[in-house]
Amino acid sequence: MDRRDFIKHSAFFSIGGLLLPSVVLSSCRKETLFEDIDFKGNVIIIGAGAAGLYAGYLLKSKGIDFKIIEASNAIGGRIGKLEGFADYTIDTGAQWLHGKNNILADLIQSKNVQTTLDETELSYWFNNQIVTTLPQDPFIFEAENLPDVSFKEYAHQQGFGTEYDAIVEAIAGDQGASASLLSAYWNSKDEENWVSGDEDFKFQQSYFEVIEEHIAQPILDQIILNTPVQSIDYSTDKVIVQDINNVAYSADRVIITVPMSILKLNEITFNPALPSEKTDAFAKFGMGPGMKVFLKFSSKFYADVLYGGTICGAYADDTVGKSTSDNVLLAFIMGDQAAYLHSLGSDTAITNALLQELDGMYNGQATASFIASNVFDYTAKPFIKGAYGFSTIQMGNAREIAAQAVNKRLYFAGEAMNTNGHHQTVHGAVESGYNAVVNFINDSKK
Ligand SMILES: Cc1cc2nc3c(=O)[nH]c(=O)nc-3n(C[C@H](O)[C@H](O)[C@H](O)COP(=O)(O)OP(=O)(O)OC[C@H]3O[C@@H](n4cnc5c(N)ncnc54)[C@H](O)[C@@H]3O)c2cc1C
Repeated sequence: MDRRDFIKHSAFFSIGGLLLPSVVLSSCRKETLFEDIDFKGNVIIIGAGAAGLYAGYLLKSKGIDFKIIEASNAIGGRIGKLEGFADYTIDTGAQWLHGKNNILADLIQSKNVQTTLDETELSYWFNNQIVTTLPQDPFIFEAENLPDVSFKEYAHQQGFGTEYDAIVEAIAGDQGASASLLSAYWNSKDEENWVSGDEDFKFQQSYFEVIEEHIAQPILDQIILNTPVQSIDYSTDKVIVQDINNVAYSADRVIITVPMSILKLNEITFNPALPSEKTDAFAKFGMGPGMKVFLKFSSKFYADVLYGGTICGAYADDTVGKSTSDNVLLAFIMGDQAAYLHSLGSDTAITNALLQELDGMYNGQATASFIASNVFDYTAKPFIKGAYGFSTIQMGNAREIAAQAVNKRLYFAGEAMNTNGHHQTVHGAVESGYNAVVNFINDSKK
């Protein structure tokens, strides 16, 4: 169960997507871009997730003065770890490396980090039973033929009955979206650009530990935690970044990597206001609710990956690729389903709802072998407020506009700003951090 499984099972992905080289990615990998750097100023990066950490890592390697300002009490953003719940470290956020044709995979490979290919197969909860194939194989269409309607509407247009709704919801859930909000057309256009590869990998350690050890460690002394930024004034030569305690930081360039939800909600104000073209672009992004729940059991009674629950679209054996003797099932919940579970208001209520669904699928075995659960509700995290950005109906070139620099002083990064087709991923966030640094260095040469 993961993003690339979705792609394999969906025809929203065109064959062309496998073949198209990414101009941005291949050019951004050239070290020559960093020759003759004449930038002498300082940089503030806002946000210590994958994008911000990688931008800092790169600036340090180029000898450029920078600080990272992070609102929460920890680095990592949507990558996190949970120790003590099982006999291995749980990935509370991102856990799969989606393909190896990307700059993060190159870095990881150069550090000899061990990865395991995830070869688990999908099963489906369909017509009240578990099946390994569906009567109709959904979504075998070329990208250019898709209309700009929602996933859900498109599935219905193609003759998939309501019995497929929960599976369509799970597929959209991989994109962090409800099926009624994700654009069939624009999502397929996004996928055309994907060049990272079709295989998914897991780390023997957690994703968080990989990023911490190989990217964050060398720059930890430049990160200021517990410091939410509330305003950015770029009306004079120096950009003034102010935190919620009215402490001001001055910089020549600012790289903003906060989640799209934070920008959409205007949680950071800008002086002068950002161009309306840009705020209109932010408004077009979807960023829906998202949740991960880990359920520990005394026995493994469940399929490796199961799509199609009505409470939770996707269940997956969390222990794949880990060395463990524990049984941990991941409930991966996005969109309307995550909104519903969020509305239940307590971790106990969320856990009970999931156990009830699993009992119905597996003849009461869930409650009988349940040990413990842990809920990670990204909607409730004050500095994340959702899962990840997705392309809505009439998205157009909003992503490209959102990612553009303003006045050659404000640069935008973060997974949603990735224009290589790798948004919604850690490596996409890393690439966006890379691009922001390359762009401001290039702009400084002009
Ligand atoms: C449940 C879940 C599962 C996922 N699974 C995978 C996966 O398996 N593989 C994969 O590749 N990707 C996965 N992703 C996506 C991946 O986690 C993200 O794309 C990536 O981590 C985003 O990094 P980022 O730097 O863009 O943003 P973030 O990690 O969100 O970092 C942004 C940072 O900005 C900070 N911030 C916010 N507001 C302010 C402020 N006002 N001032 C200062 N700081 C602020 C936040 O606290 C945060 O630390 C998953 C995401 C979720 C939610």
